Amino acid sequence: MATGDIYDLVIVGGGPGGLSAAVYAMRAALKTVLIEKAVPGGQINLSDSVENYPGFTHVSGAELSMRFAEHARAYGLEQINEEVAEILPGLTHHTVRLADGRTLAAHAVILATGGSPRKLKVPGEETLYGKGVSYCAVCDGFFFRGKQVIVVGGGDSACEEGLYLAKLAEKVYLVHRRDALRASRILQQRVEAECKMEVLWNTVITEINEANGGVGGVRLRDTRNGQEREMPIDGVFVFIGFDPNNQLVPAGIRRNADGFVLTDDQCATAIPGIYAIGDLRERYARQIVLAAADGCMAALSAAHYVEGRKAAAADSCELPTPA
Ligand code: NAP
Repeated sequence: MATGDIYDLVIVGGGPGGLSAAVYAMRAALKTVLIEKAVPGGQINLSDSVENYPGFTHVSGAELSMRFAEHARAYGLEQINEEVAEILPGLTHHTVRLADGRTLAAHAVILATGGSPRKLKVPGEETLYGKGVSYCAVCDGFFFRGKQVIVVGGGDSACEEGLYLAKLAEKVYLVHRRDALRASRILQQRVEAECKMEVLWNTVITEINEANGGVGGVRLRDTRNGQEREMPIDGVFVFIGFDPNNQLVPAGIRRNADGFVLTDDQCATAIPGIYAIGDLRERYARQIVLAAADGCMAALSAAHYVEGRKAAAADSCELPTPA
């Protein structure tokens, strides 16, 4: 595409939402480019096993993301491997500025930037990250073969990742701040049945301690009576939810108290032509299938929007040109 041309659609983020949006946009003949700073697939690359994406009884996150990417590329999708620095909304078109200085003009932009693991924010967590503190069992579990680890959290991620770690570690303690897990029943049952896993109920970590350059132990607090105790441990895996990657969301787009973007049911934000999908937007559940569905919805809505803009520009003989 020649410099100065306007894309119909720029998709920011190459996870399941962004790639699904690309499939629908290409099929709708939108001039589309997808920008991803890392490898396609996003967070699902970190999943050892996905068992609830329809059509796949069991598939690794890496394979599923590869299939998403291949599907989008089959339509000749243009991709740019670069970080997006800024999105500047405009009246005639929106501008997407890349970290390398290039700018792209687009009628519509779909933000599919996902989220990042939430931190415990306790002493020791930051300094021991990569030295026993981890947010990815698939990436780091290998280093804890035959060792004792703690998994923090009571949701699907904590249970799933704990079960994965139980295949490698000698013992996995699931530290949860309440007396009931939030995870789906099927995962709860698997945790209960896994003899290498033990749940420490009503417990939080208040400090992660160093020994010999890595994690040596933690300080635990009982949330019912406030009593504290030390516990030796080799690794701490944190799965307590995640925060939206909303740094690129332009001012003027509403977010909830946790920073998730508020959209209508077509994933449209308050700025015409800008959409937010998947884990970036406020919603009841966060699932791969929902991110994919958002991608579909936003791309179809964007196609309608772009068509309307072009028709209006043709009627008024006013063809928008990028700045
Ligand atoms: P989540 O469902 O939000 O669970 C986070 C867990 O961490 C909760 O148990 C929460 O405790 C706990 N927590 C939050 N902040 C904490 C803190 N500061 N200290 C200690 N504990 C804290 O997050 P998730 O497990 O990452 O799942 C996110 C979404 O992805 C969910 O919709 C989930 O269903 C989905 N997911 C699905 C699958 C699957 O279907 N296979 C796999 C992974 C994730 P409380 O319970 O007390 O709030």
